[in-house]
Amino acid sequence: MPEKFLTVDLPSLPSASETTFKRRKVGFVSLGCPKNLVDSEVMMGMLAEAGAELTHETDDADVIVVNTCSFIDRAQRESVDTILEMAQLKAAGKTQKLVVAGCLVERYRDEIRKNIPEVDAVVGTGELEAILRATGIEASRPSSPFVILQSRAEGILREQQGRFSRESWDGAIADLPNYLYDDTTPRLLATPKHSAYIKIAEGCDHPCSFCIIPQLRGKFRSRRFESVIAEAEKLAKSGVREITLIGQDTTCYGEDLGLKDGLALLLEKLAAVPDLRWIRFLYAYPNKITGRLLETIAAHEKICSYIDVPLQHASASALKRMKRGGSAEVFLRSIEKMRTTIPNLTLRTSFIVGFPGETEQEFEELCDFVREARFDWMGAFGYSDEEGAAAHHLEKKLSAREIERRRKQLMQIQQKISKRAKKALIGKQFDLLLEGTSDETDLLLEGRTAMHAPEIDRAAWTMPGSRRSTPRWR
Ligand code: SF4
Repeated sequence: MPEKFLTVDLPSLPSASETTFKRRKVGFVSLGCPKNLVDSEVMMGMLAEAGAELTHETDDADVIVVNTCSFIDRAQRESVDTILEMAQLKAAGKTQKLVVAGCLVERYRDEIRKNIPEVDAVVGTGELEAILRATGIEASRPSSPFVILQSRAEGILREQQGRFSRESWDGAIADLPNYLYDDTTPRLLATPKHSAYIKIAEGCDHPCSFCIIPQLRGKFRSRRFESVIAEAEKLAKSGVREITLIGQDTTCYGEDLGLKDGLALLLEKLAAVPDLRWIRFLYAYPNKITGRLLETIAAHEKICSYIDVPLQHASASALKRMKRGGSAEVFLRSIEKMRTTIPNLTLRTSFIVGFPGETEQEFEELCDFVREARFDWMGAFGYSDEEGAAAHHLEKKLSAREIERRRKQLMQIQQKISKRAKKALIGKQFDLLLEGTSDETDLLLEGRTAMHAPEIDRAAWTMPGSRRSTPRWR
């Protein structure tokens, strides 16, 4: 079973005689980020509602769906390898149908069909309902209730500037995805029972020159306010205690709906949902973190004092080439404001090192910034040169070796900071979400504090305990 083969609590299904179509066993492999995982959960929900049987075993599946990622080159390779692995199962007669979904389809729709003949159908990120027909389930759903009422002014401007154009992409269909699920869409959770993601927005209008997500996912669009609250209430009633709001940029939430400080308003409402214990959001765009948002986080115990703001760089000249803006000075001021408004704030960020033209001096600026900012969590990624991204045309690309050298150097700086910060926590008390037994030994229980976002901040804490695998609150 591949690592990402999804396991879900399977719903009770109607018997074959109760259904009007042939019941097929469908297995899912979900790759990439939590946003893609939610798409998988929605597709699984639609299939289950239509009467398909979902299976955890690849060998047992009549149909295998691979929901792919295409963010950077490495993710594309992982997606292709997984498709080829599943194609072998089909060639060996273990499965009858292979469906490829997700971002790789938006990018290489024709190539997948042409070069991997074992693939029977493809489903893009904007056509999730097509999973029913693609898997051979003889049922159809009415198309998505979601309609884009109005784009953000930035979205309209970026469109005029060609930000979303896929013309140079062989085989990509011209129509941008505009799908967005809502609280009435069936969904099967693949996360542990106590924790769930809610996608509050989709797409992105920002111009970051290294990123092709806007072409893959379309223009920024928010889910209706009431729909998000209704879904959170439903999840809380079903036993979910931790909600993570996700989107490419959650801090823009509601701007297309005419809301000011939409994310702060949403968090306030969610904090009033009984039974929810931890609420957080991923990800923040640096210049979209408002005073009102910070005050809202500080005012509600249930909203985790946790901000993940990918800064990407700290040198003003590098940030300018990245088409993001900002500088070390601006970011330090903003971090200071976050820390003064929210006591005990956990701050996470990520950086791209080795961006085209990154000089030694720019890199040193970044290192100095990391030393000064003292992040609680930090990720460093080597620049990945994506065809279709504006940065692909930039000159002075760095060698892979140099990029890796810089990445390691930056991580070493952060590791020392993290180690010191974690030492300072010894002897303090925290609420812990126990998630089951540890991978090391089942004599230890493993848990997360509010400082650890699910799956991302993996340094889970362990404590001696009994052989229990069901997560529970202390
Ligand atoms: S904000 Fe994030 S998703 Fe949007 S273009 Fe920039 S890097 Fe890509």
